[in-house]
Amino acid sequence: MSDIRKEFKDILNNAESYLMQQEQLFGGIIYKTSASKIEKTSAPLAEFQSVNSLDEFNAQISSCKKCSLGDTRKNFVFGVGNPNAKVMFVGEAPGADEDAQGEPFVGRAGQLLNKILEAVQLKREDVYICNILKCRPPDNRDPMLKEMELCSPYLSKQIELIKPKFIICLGRIAAQWLLQTSDSLTAMRQKVYNYQGAKLIVTYHPAALLRNPNWKRPTWEDMQLFQKLYNEQM
Ligand code: SF4
Repeated sequence: MSDIRKEFKDILNNAESYLMQQEQLFGGIIYKTSASKIEKTSAPLAEFQSVNSLDEFNAQISSCKKCSLGDTRKNFVFGVGNPNAKVMFVGEAPGADEDAQGEPFVGRAGQLLNKILEAVQLKREDVYICNILKCRPPDNRDPMLKEMELCSPYLSKQIELIKPKFIICLGRIAAQWLLQTSDSLTAMRQKVYNYQGAKLIVTYHPAALLRNPNWKRPTWEDMQLFQKLYNEQM
């Protein structure tokens, strides 16, 4: 057998034993370590190293104009909730209602998120809610990669300050960015990832549930997975 083929076989064998070990430990749930690329793209900026509260951080970045969304926003949408939350919800970007009010998840999607929280015995004030982008993309278009690259270090700093035990990633775009993958949402669901020291799971964005109620059931399954992990750990 050539050296390359042997090396390849060794890699496959190692991967197989790792997955078997994970299965024995955690059942069907696969724990996936964040790729180094994730740390690279989302590391908090060194200039904010001395900032140690969310209010101080908000005050320092609320006039950001690093990308063109800073010129078109009505309001900067930092995030809302318990600064010591164990659970953080992260979406992709503010929409029209959020832009108007300066608070994430306040429109119909926000009301649905409140119901999802109630279903797992949590209240809005128990958790922390924010987005990757802090300013609304015009006409609710998808965030551009460059915008997420520029803005996501702010999210990383928020995570560093809050130190959540769980991050629930809402929707494909936020999940693909945080996990640095092009996997479909279906492929990312029902797995547990490690992200900045928190367990991260992926589910549908509430706005997507408003468009397609058939996704409510899989969302409930994802929240049950969250609840199981939460009850085990807390
Ligand atoms: S989206 Fe983020 S990077 Fe762009 S202006 Fe707003 S806060 Fe700054």
